Amino acid sequence: MKPTIHQILKSTFGYDTFREPQEEIINHVMGGKDALVIMPTGGGKSICYQIPALASDGITIVVSPLIALMNDQVINLQEVGVEAATIHSNVPPGEIQEIERKLNNGETKILYLSPEKINSEMTQRYLSTLNIGLIAIDEAHCVSVWGNDFRPDYTKLARLRNVFPKSAFIALTATADSATQEDISRQLELREPRKFLSSFERKNITTHAHPAQKRLDQIAHILREHTGDSGIIYCLSRKDTEKVASKLNMMGLNAKHYHAGMDAESRYRVQREFQSDEIKIICATVAFGMGIDKPNIRFVIHYSMPKNMEAYYQEIGRAGRDGEESVAHMFASWGDFLMLKRFVDGSEGKEEFKRVQYEKLERMWEFASTTDCRTNGILSYFGEYRTEGCGHCDNCLNPPLKKDGSINAQKVLSAIYRCGQSVGIEMIIDILRGSHKAEIRNRGFDQIKTFGAGREINRLTWKNYIIQMINKGIVGVDYSRGSCLIWTPLSTAVLKGEKKIKLADFVPTEKKVKVKKKRAATNIIVDDSLFGRLKAWRLALARDKSVPPYVIFKNSVLEEISSAKPKTDMELLQISGIGDAKLKQYGEDIIRIIREE
Ligand code: ADP
Ligand code: ZN
Repeated sequence: MKPTIHQILKSTFGYDTFREPQEEIINHVMGGKDALVIMPTGGGKSICYQIPALASDGITIVVSPLIALMNDQVINLQEVGVEAATIHSNVPPGEIQEIERKLNNGETKILYLSPEKINSEMTQRYLSTLNIGLIAIDEAHCVSVWGNDFRPDYTKLARLRNVFPKSAFIALTATADSATQEDISRQLELREPRKFLSSFERKNITTHAHPAQKRLDQIAHILREHTGDSGIIYCLSRKDTEKVASKLNMMGLNAKHYHAGMDAESRYRVQREFQSDEIKIICATVAFGMGIDKPNIRFVIHYSMPKNMEAYYQEIGRAGRDGEESVAHMFASWGDFLMLKRFVDGSEGKEEFKRVQYEKLERMWEFASTTDCRTNGILSYFGEYRTEGCGHCDNCLNPPLKKDGSINAQKVLSAIYRCGQSVGIEMIIDILRGSHKAEIRNRGFDQIKTFGAGREINRLTWKNYIIQMINKGIVGVDYSRGSCLIWTPLSTAVLKGEKKIKLADFVPTEKKVKVKKKRAATNIIVDDSLFGRLKAWRLALARDKSVPPYVIFKNSVLEEISSAKPKTDMELLQISGIGDAKLKQYGEDIIRIIREE
């Protein structure tokens, strides 16, 4: 008799209970029905398609856009004693034969395929000879042009629904707004899919955003609070990744850069060193990360503002997959916003596509400059609405002080008007601060009434105020004329004093809250405690087996062992994350290490 899904959860994966809504999803697809699953990173999507393969006769096929991710999942499955295989362009024909033999005789129940493989007619003909119970499309947002990582290969997957009429289909993604969700169902031709939508909130990530001023100093400050932790610093350009990494190295921090312009071998090396904890800090473009399945990333920093909320959410989502406390810090400037806007201007594509990209960028900018709860900003983007604050973002932890800003707002509006609504933010600030730049003199702006009317306020603060005015709709931006500032229908009321407005002051990073940290001692290199010895044992074993240490055990498993100190096999099985296969492989070693104490 086949084991039940609960038995598999416990004996294979070592977990006592399903998370919401894993059990429902598994039962649904095992009933032969289609599903669309939107679940945050680290939510536990994988077992939703792995367990059906182990609990029924049918094979599960998993389509994933990334070879690294597929390899990782196969290693993870092998570690828990499950036969799984992957076929993609780098797998030699000899190995494919062996994989097919094991699929034919039922030894292998889970097969990972790249999109081009499953799209090939030859593969489809072969797969038709097997009993395919479930086809999982991972990273399903790649099928949609509305999504962030559109992959043309993925659109061809639409044909699969007809090629495998008897199998259930499950599409999974961590990032999809409602337009993308609809598009996924349509593109993949899912049959009346049931939608499983989990909350997007990542409670273990503390979210911050800062104006991009003296970024390296602010980053150095953040890194000092995270000594020994692993993290990623995302940059918009390849040049920035190299610059930031080299500056950090000059500060004595061990950082490396990563971008798509590097040769494959160097990229692979950096990725491997990061994965295995040899390098802690990676300065990277967005090319880094899709294939990263590292659960113990403690911080994600955005050196510049990302182009949209999907990208941002996906990137910060790489932090804290293991559920432990992590932080996200983003630096954003008006310059970033204008540059990203120019990227869209210059991009190929239909007007409609561009319009969507502009709107997404606007939402990103609103998020960066909001003084309200940031988590709620993310949640509302994905269609979850609530009013109470999250308690784990900078604005909730340290509410910005808002003062009456009407007089300052009037100075800005007056300056804009008197310059004929023909200058951008930088020059308006120059005028308010009474700068003697040649251009200002040449254009006669040093003669207007507001020239020098705001000398006592520094540049950064002015910029911060004007951005808040733009966000409130009191100042407009004419993008068709070099992003110069203009009046809006709301401007007159503010200038006449009929409408009061509040403006918030910027609080520098070092004055903001200290990030709570659960564990302080895990960064110590020589650690005599049981946890330290277990980690040393794990590292030696990982090197031996050429797998990353967390594949053997996550930190949280070693932590639980260190505090529970199990003495028998039965006690070891009580630890979350230890199932039969891991007990058999490592049980003896662990009990010996505990005894040696
Ligand atoms: P996703 O693919 O959604 O990002 P994963 O499937 O990789 O997430 O799961 C994230 C982590 O959560 C993994 O370490 C996984 O083993 C763990 N996990 C999944 N389901 C459970 C569960 N029911 N109980 C405990 N841990 C779980
Ligand atoms: Zn909040």
